[in-house]
Amino acid sequence: MNGQSRSTSRSQAAFEAAKRIIPGGVNSPVRAFRSVGGAPFFVDRGEGSRIYDIDGNDYIDYVGSWGPLILGHAHPEVLAAIREAAERGTSFGAPTERETAMAELVCERMPSVEVVRMVNSGTEATMSALRLARGFTNRPKIVKFEGSYHGHADALLIKAGSGVATLGLPDSPGVPAGVAEHTITVPYNDAASLRLAFEKYGEQIAAVIIEPIGGNMGVVPPLPGFLEEIRSITTQYGALLIFDEVMTGFRVHLNSAQGLYGITPDLTCMGKVIGGGLPVGAYGGRRDIMEMIAPSGPIYQAGTLSGNPLAMAAGLTTLRLLGQPGVYEELERKSARLEEGLARNARELGIPSTINRVGSMVCPFFTEAKVVDYETAKTSDLGRFARVFGRLLDRGVSIAPSQFEGMFVSLAHSDADIDRTIEAHYEALKLE
Ligand code: PMP
Repeated sequence: MNGQSRSTSRSQAAFEAAKRIIPGGVNSPVRAFRSVGGAPFFVDRGEGSRIYDIDGNDYIDYVGSWGPLILGHAHPEVLAAIREAAERGTSFGAPTERETAMAELVCERMPSVEVVRMVNSGTEATMSALRLARGFTNRPKIVKFEGSYHGHADALLIKAGSGVATLGLPDSPGVPAGVAEHTITVPYNDAASLRLAFEKYGEQIAAVIIEPIGGNMGVVPPLPGFLEEIRSITTQYGALLIFDEVMTGFRVHLNSAQGLYGITPDLTCMGKVIGGGLPVGAYGGRRDIMEMIAPSGPIYQAGTLSGNPLAMAAGLTTLRLLGQPGVYEELERKSARLEEGLARNARELGIPSTINRVGSMVCPFFTEAKVVDYETAKTSDLGRFARVFGRLLDRGVSIAPSQFEGMFVSLAHSDADIDRTIEAHYEALKLE
């Protein structure tokens, strides 16, 4: 597929049909392409770095199912593991040894995690971790950062990023004021504001939840010292530090963001990569806290499909493959190549640009501002983003339909894929 002549009639018809019986035609809001205009392409299949739509177009895919597909689409070993598991039964609601193997691997790779509970999505992970933090500390309030997205639990839909940012819904109707009043929000990378919040409400704050690398206002790395400061403030006030590593977990480093930055949170939420493309989330951390969860403790959390054998098979295989030597170095090399190419294009064509990147999370903003928080992320030219997004699609490159998401590089992206992407990006920018 190389551009301009992309046919979309089948996808458009499929979207119309879907809109009649699914809200907005999609099962998760950002998929509807509202912020970039036009209709989404409907997917036929994926393989390696490519995704194929029902009109027969193919795209080099940097969405990767919004993060999970670090090995690329339909990885043969992941498929084999799922197939093998499925043949023995798809769900039992009874324990299996695979769940213990998964827990052991997670505890080995996530430095701060001593005990871990599997759930079915990132939302469940953060929601459960918050309940646990409140139950453990016996305090009601939580702190989150503006522009961070932690899933759609009521308490976390306050100044959220990702789809909520894209749709411009800072708070969602349906979230009771009584819930929202216990969520304190402060700007990302602003330790002074966090300290002020603690000076005011410190005794009531159960936890600070943070994406250790912001991934839902575009990619926003923590400034040097920021995570250290949060660790020290939370310790000082007896609040828990929850790392939401749903996006960064096993993506940015073998030991996740906490390994990369050397910070020990009390609890960690996981999702995406850990499920290898199947619906999985997890939360874990300090043993004394985690033992408060039922049935070892009184804080309730459960799941009919939790620890599902197919999901465990896909996740375990993915994590094992990520444990091979050189994997993260390879991701770093490919992602740096992409970053350099995109930066070069913008420079040559005189387009204002700031590119934030941590490992295989890459995010080009159309602004000259240093992007350190949600306010600076919003200085990006969103109209330009929408135009460039469409031109990239026409040239066979799929990125997330939102400025407030990064591009995910996978091990399936070849150097030729990256170079082709840089070329398409050049052509897209040249039309500005
Ligand atoms: N936390 C973070 C950091 C996320 O990026 C996301 C999803 N993008 C979630 C939580 C929610 O995960 P899920 O969509 O699986 O519920």
